[in-house]
Amino acid sequence: MCTGIQNNEIPMNSAKRPVNCHKAYHAHVYFDRQTLEFAEKLCLEAGDLFGLKVGRVHQKLVGPHPRWSCQIIFSHKSFDELVPWLDKNRGNLSILIHALTGDDLKDHTEFAYWLGDCVALDFSMFAPQT
Ligand code: ZN
Repeated sequence: MCTGIQNNEIPMNSAKRPVNCHKAYHAHVYFDRQTLEFAEKLCLEAGDLFGLKVGRVHQKLVGPHPRWSCQIIFSHKSFDELVPWLDKNRGNLSILIHALTGDDLKDHTEFAYWLGDCVALDFSMFAPQT
């Protein structure tokens, strides 16, 4: 079902294109001080256009995200419209798209996809607590 992401030889940090083979997703739009306004507009517009829930625009690092970010929550039903739209309208921004399967580590590695350049995530929070 997940065609295109089964090649184990692909290094984890190479940019995989999003595939619509999961039920639910997050898109995390990455930005910085210069691109804040653009990113905010992009997220709000996506939310409006596709009737999606858009999270806060974080001007700080949250979760495993190494840059400022804004989250869009969507399901496989919106994928085919939203993802190409984001790709077309994202300018130079990097967007992480990852599945929501309940396994945080997998969601941010095996099931993580990129529009634009990929960025190394901070996986330390997913390490088992001892
Ligand atoms: Zn997420």
